[in-house]
Amino acid sequence: MSDCIFCKIAHGEIPSDLLYEDDNVVAFEDLNPQAPVHVLVVPKAHYATLLEDVDAPTLVSMRRAVASVAKRFDLGERGFRCIVNTGADAGQTVMHLHLHVLGGTPLGEGLL
Ligand code: 5GP
Ligand code: ZN
Repeated sequence: MSDCIFCKIAHGEIPSDLLYEDDNVVAFEDLNPQAPVHVLVVPKAHYATLLEDVDAPTLVSMRRAVASVAKRFDLGERGFRCIVNTGADAGQTVMHLHLHVLGGTPLGEGLL
């Protein structure tokens, strides 16, 4: 996807400070953080949403990236939240699958 911002970041066409990278995913800080830790985990392949048939290695890598981010920011004990916005009702703005990792402060007990 030539006009996709996350494809460009994931393929190094836009230089970014990557917090995690493997063959399948990258992770980097959100441009507009909503918490002290706000990292995006992004597949290198372009999937618009989680409704697509995301391949198993990518799903495994997404989990590894989350674990790596949690370790880097020492979130394992205190906890953190992962969110995948999907479609209009969820407010998805970038149509390239991404998982938000939020933490570093109490996030509230609800889901919203
Ligand atoms: P969504 O609402 O689609 O789940 O979240 C998209 C997220 O991507 C937002 O939190 C927004 O701040 C972030 N974002 C959008 N464009 C960029 C960008 O160019 N760089 C980074 N690091 N984050 C971005
Ligand atoms: Zn893309």
